[in-house]
Amino acid sequence: MLTCKQQVAVSSDYLDGQLSFRQRLLVRHHLLFCPNCRRFIRQMRLLRGSLQKLPEPPPEDLEQTVERMMREQSR
Ligand SMILES: [Zn+2]
Repeated sequence: MLTCKQQVAVSSDYLDGQLSFRQRLLVRHHLLFCPNCRRFIRQMRLLRGSLQKLPEPPPEDLEQTVERMMREQSR
């Protein structure tokens, strides 16, 4: 069984569907017995849902930043 710390560490991947079948089972098993992590996952899912609705941040200064990085690298 996962510890809460392990659970938190994989919860982002869990929400992304990035976990293997076995890992997913471990997470589900943990959530079944741990109301704290259940709440955590729920809040994380809500947060991510609301984040996805936000517009993309403007690509402010991106070109300048890349240009500067390339200049610094070629030094
Ligand atoms: Zn837990």
